[in-house]
Amino acid sequence: MCQPLSLYIHVPFCKRKCPYCDFFSVTDPSLIPAYVAGVCKEIRIWSDMTTDRVQAPLHTLYLGGGTPSVLSVAQAARILETVHQAFGVIPDAEITMEVNPGTVDAAYLSGIRQLGINRLSIGAQSFDPAKLSFLSRIHTRDQVFETLSGAARAGFSNIGLDLMYALPQETADVWQTDLDTALALQLPHLSCYMLTLEPGTPFYGQYQSGHLSPCDPDRRTDFFVHTSRVLEHAGYAHYEVSNFARNSAFRSVHNTHYWERGAYLGVGPSAHSFVPDGLSGTVAQKYGVKSGPGDVPGSLPDIVKKSGPVRAWNKTDIQVWLDHVTAGRLPWADHEILSPAQEKMEQIMLGLRTDMGVDINGLHPEIQVLMDRLAGQGSGVFFNHSREGFSARHFRLTRSGLTCLDGIVDAIIRKIT
Ligand code: SF4
Repeated sequence: MCQPLSLYIHVPFCKRKCPYCDFFSVTDPSLIPAYVAGVCKEIRIWSDMTTDRVQAPLHTLYLGGGTPSVLSVAQAARILETVHQAFGVIPDAEITMEVNPGTVDAAYLSGIRQLGINRLSIGAQSFDPAKLSFLSRIHTRDQVFETLSGAARAGFSNIGLDLMYALPQETADVWQTDLDTALALQLPHLSCYMLTLEPGTPFYGQYQSGHLSPCDPDRRTDFFVHTSRVLEHAGYAHYEVSNFARNSAFRSVHNTHYWERGAYLGVGPSAHSFVPDGLSGTVAQKYGVKSGPGDVPGSLPDIVKKSGPVRAWNKTDIQVWLDHVTAGRLPWADHEILSPAQEKMEQIMLGLRTDMGVDINGLHPEIQVLMDRLAGQGSGVFFNHSREGFSARHFRLTRSGLTCLDGIVDAIIRKIT
């Protein structure tokens, strides 16, 4: 059966590494030309692999990173041209590019708009100079405004802005000023992320050595609840833990596809792919998913026979990734075939992140009891989905429920496993 297909292109280059970031990227731009050739090759490998189970053309395309806006317009054009040739893209496809202030000017934004990119995700993080400095961002407050006005002049109407809060020592007033500034801009989409200290990052090292104190959990909860209240009051739908859209037309179609467990392919170093109905055996054989030492663990016959939902992730090292795609081989580092229990768990976890929620009919009886108990005891954690067409057994998390999402998911996982 045909399924809508999305494509994610990971662009693993940044001008400078931010000390809180654990996304894979490097700062050596000399690798970019080889990367562009490699990513085009990988796109063609994948397009040959798609069959009636995962059907082109694409309904969303997302260039993320890293900092995709370090690509020149010509390099971005080459990648997009390859995508169009290899898959095709439906006429009203959402085509997003992450851009960072300080890496783009008006001419660049106009250039990528002309390539067909119709949505921007702008990594501002803050308008506050002290916050930008603490986060070691390369841009200034003025460059955020320049990027926004350049985007509007270039004809972008679907614009999302990323903001970060709950920094150590951040006051409610500082965050409120960021929110007020963003609201005054009347942007279609806002993503508001709490700073988290990810293992392996410089900030995490500072935390371990006692040189950085994270925002305490109660304050994080206060920040989260306040953000949700303020933005909903201003007319934004809080449609996912960290995401707010001015109206339904501006919800991220690409990310919603992830949360709904749709099929997506990821190309570029470290990118992930997910194919809910498994891969075609014939095509997998053609490309030899498993044929050499150090390649994907598990045998090709296993993948073909089980043909269940497949999640795979690419090799991270750019040169190793490049060697694989240049040789016409999938650059997988590893993959897993999800069991029915894992599938169910993912459905619940992802559903609870969003305002779509989950239908508890058909779930493990113990999970139904747990959710009924949470909903029935007036905890304010769950409420029945009020949308037309949803069953009375369809639940979503309330705002206060979202503040304990991780704990709820842990409790559910314990019931499943
Ligand atoms: S620019 Fe973005 S991807 Fe690059 S290091 Fe900073 S946060 Fe990470």
